[in-house]
Amino acid sequence: MSQEKPLVLVTHTLPAAWLAPLKEKCRLMIGPEGGKGLTPRLEENLPEAEALFTLLVDPITEDILERAPNLKVVSQMAVGVDNLDVEACTRRGIPVGHTPGILTAATADLTWGLLLAVARHIPQSQADARAGRWTTWNPTGWLGADLEGATLGIVGMGKIGSAVARRASGFGMELIFTNRSPRPDIEKDLNAQQVPLEDLLEQSDFVSLHVPLTEETHHLIDANALQKMKSTAILVNAARGQVVETQALLQGLQESWIAAAGLDVTHPEPLPSEHPLYAQSNCLITPHIGSASYNTRRRMAEIACQNVLAGLEGSKLPHSVN
Ligand code: NAP
Repeated sequence: MSQEKPLVLVTHTLPAAWLAPLKEKCRLMIGPEGGKGLTPRLEENLPEAEALFTLLVDPITEDILERAPNLKVVSQMAVGVDNLDVEACTRRGIPVGHTPGILTAATADLTWGLLLAVARHIPQSQADARAGRWTTWNPTGWLGADLEGATLGIVGMGKIGSAVARRASGFGMELIFTNRSPRPDIEKDLNAQQVPLEDLLEQSDFVSLHVPLTEETHHLIDANALQKMKSTAILVNAARGQVVETQALLQGLQESWIAAAGLDVTHPEPLPSEHPLYAQSNCLITPHIGSASYNTRRRMAEIACQNVLAGLEGSKLPHSVN
């Protein structure tokens, strides 16, 4: 590192304790709470910046990299890096850090929260009780889907997909999954069957998405895919909003191509409050909270700081994508 402490641009305000590992060795310029991307003040300082500490809402484009000739590392506090031009970073020899693994359990837990809440109408039944519509023990009221014996299809059996699958065994579900590469090891370990996506869509009672957003997975779940699913099926998306074609999902929910959806991620994000998806009683939406537990977010920041420090020293990042 040079004599003067290197400048690190942190795109958004975070609790001071989370950034403490950087304080001693770096000068921090910190953006505001909320919003997306770099503020004009942060952008002005790009020429001097040696590290960028980013969140998944920050588009880090070729243009930004061009204005940051001294950049040694981009460190994102997330596992998905679809908001970053990773190729452009690689061309410039800039390592890109992310935070895999640490958010696996929290995201798998939230996936199950969505799946159970949608399957058993928890939000609607609570709203009905609050509104005075709980007038008796209704033998036909709020009837939901059974989990035991049902088939859970996992699209993208990586770290989070596998953690979701492990939790499924407690519910006595059958497991099928799809990945690009053959994974007989996973089939054996998780007592799951690997099948092509088309078969998974046709056979699953619950479809849970855990692929990264890439050119290949963009709109993987479109009208055609939704129409292949059972009309009783429930779709859960805790991956990235653009893996699902929003307009097709809306139509699918309105026209009962599928029964319901639980979404932790949407496109666009945030989903504007007037969006018609909110009006669908068969759609539960949470505001991208998969990793939102105290310990998980603190640990994500810790790893992101470690990636910054390693990048500034020119060492291999503990967790990089390129
Ligand atoms: P991971 O371990 O890399 O798993 C991704 C899996 O997807 C891999 O098994 C990969 O296997 C598979 N895959 C990739 N492209 C595919 C394709 N075209 N078709 C089928 N399978 C494909 O990643 P992870 O840690 O589980 O995270 C997954 C994603 O979850 C992240 O990229 C992120 O976008 C999202 N996420 C969301 C939240 C949230 O707050 N909701 C939190 C954390 C992560 P193959 O390479 O063999 O295909």
